[in-house]
Amino acid sequence: MRFTYVTLFPQLVEGYFQDSILKRALQSALFSYDFCDPRDYAANKHNKVDDTAAGGGAGMVMMPQPLYDALSRFDNATIIFPTPVGKPFTQNDAKRLAKKKHIVFVSGRYEGIDERVVERFADELFSIGDYVLTGGELPSLVMSDAIARNIDGVLGNRDSLLTESFETSLLEAPSFTKPAIYDGLTTPSEFLKGNHNKITALKFALSTAKTQYFRPGQLIQHNKRTTYEK
Ligand code: SAM
Repeated sequence: MRFTYVTLFPQLVEGYFQDSILKRALQSALFSYDFCDPRDYAANKHNKVDDTAAGGGAGMVMMPQPLYDALSRFDNATIIFPTPVGKPFTQNDAKRLAKKKHIVFVSGRYEGIDERVVERFADELFSIGDYVLTGGELPSLVMSDAIARNIDGVLGNRDSLLTESFETSLLEAPSFTKPAIYDGLTTPSEFLKGNHNKITALKFALSTAKTQYFRPGQLIQHNKRTTYEK
C-alpha cells in the first residue's frame, strides 16, 4: 500500500509516522508514504494556490490549476477528498480501502477546494465528523491510520482486530490489566479465574451494556439483525 498526501503542509503529516506500530510497519515495507505539494505545480510567478471565492464570501478557495496538474499524475490511485460534507468514514471503509494499492488524500485548506477539482478527480469524499477543522491533514491521517491497521501484518496480533469496536455491531468490552485492585477498584473477578466460557459470556454482557449506554441506536440494529438471522 502506498499513501500519497497532497498537502501544503507535509510537516504536519510527517511526524505521525515516526513512532510505534506504524513506524515498524513502514520499516517492514508493509506500506509507504510520500507527499505532493500543490505549490510545486502552480503555474504563476508566486506559486499561488488560492484565490478569492467566486460570487463573494469570506475566505480563500484552493484554485483548480495547481491541483489539476498535481492530481493528473496519479493514474491508478484511489483519490480521496476529506471534507465535512462527505459521507461519514467508518470501519468498513477502512477495511475495504486496506485492499487498495495506492490511496491519494487531498487536503483542503482555507474555505476548501474549487468544486471542479472534486468533480474531476474524487473517487470518494469522506467526513471524519460533524465539525469543521482547519485543514484536511488530520482527517487524512485519521483515515490512513484506520486503513493501515487493516493491512495484513501491520498489527502484530491480527486477533486484536476481531474483537474491536465496530467489527461487529457491538462496541468492545472494557479492558483491564494488572493489578487486580487499583485505587480501590477491582477487575471483574471472572476475568481472573481463567474460565474462558464465563469470560466470553461476561465480555458479551459488558459489550452489550456499553453499546446500550453509548450507542443505543446501534444496539437496536444489532438486536434486529440477530432476531432476523435466527
Ligand atoms: N468551508 C468548508 C465547509 O464549510 O464545508 C470547510 C473548509 S475547512 C476550513 C478546510 C478543509 O479542512 C476542508 O477542505 C477539508 O479538507 C478539511 N476538513 C475540515 N473539517 C473536516 C471534517 N470534519 N472531515 C473531513 N475533512 C475536513
